[in-house]
Amino acid sequence: MSDAVTVREVGLRDGLQLVKTRLDTHTKLDWIRAQSAAGFSEIEVTSFVPPSILPQFADAAEVMVGALALSDLLPTALVLNLKGARRAIEAGARKITFVLSASEAHNQSNVRRSTDASLAMFRELAKDISTQGQIELAGAIATTFGCSLQGHVSEARVAEIAEAMCAAGATEINLADTVGYAHPRQVVRIFKDISAITGPVPLAAHFHDTRGFGLANVVAAFDTGVLRFDASLGGLGGCPFAPGASGNIATEDTVYLLECLGAKTGVDINALLALRAKLPSWLPSENLGGNLLHAGLAHP
Ligand code: ZN
Repeated sequence: MSDAVTVREVGLRDGLQLVKTRLDTHTKLDWIRAQSAAGFSEIEVTSFVPPSILPQFADAAEVMVGALALSDLLPTALVLNLKGARRAIEAGARKITFVLSASEAHNQSNVRRSTDASLAMFRELAKDISTQGQIELAGAIATTFGCSLQGHVSEARVAEIAEAMCAAGATEINLADTVGYAHPRQVVRIFKDISAITGPVPLAAHFHDTRGFGLANVVAAFDTGVLRFDASLGGLGGCPFAPGASGNIATEDTVYLLECLGAKTGVDINALLALRAKLPSWLPSENLGGNLLHAGLAHP
């Protein structure tokens, strides 16, 4: 396989939402510019959530506007409800990721409403967007592979949600292992089963490395034909339900792995590592992970 693969940076959202250091808008935009220059075509730059809940994203609109000024970049925003989505659209977002949880317990704890109520919002948003021209709407299904609150998550439920999102007009379905429960054989099974339902709507994979299976899951998903992966620079982030556990898969390791597998990420790995080397100066008190910065390339 030598397909073009998109690695979408989510460190500015998934990573920053769990860290204590509040990055200023200027630094966030420096990060976005450097990563775009390193060849990233898509970056999740922020989340439109109430600033009272996550002050880290109080500058969501400014960050989105700044990122939209970069010509080769599609900046995306995460939203959890209609209000957030409307703020994102107002800021000019051209791609929005609406997330809900397949686990009822996780959805209730995250947004205090049922999964079906979130799905109804997704439908309403899709309808809104269809009248607004060219805005992509990704549906992300959190806790697809299991939930630390509820335990088992039914695959039939994930399938039902994915089908409903596609019927409503989703342009991408993102299957997220929010708490790092996924393992490679499960990844193969679920991605194959869900792709039979989503048909032409592309699937994206969002893995956490909480239990060290993150990159193994990338290989498994890639082998089923997945061409879109989320990752976080330096594995920034963590797991809200497992203090001290590592967070998202590290972008630099993910890009390098995918290139080794024959994928074309379009990323300049040395430029990416230079950016990764800068990260501790912006976030001095955060735990960063990833192996490639310290180990170097196997074939420099
Ligand atoms: Zn995540």
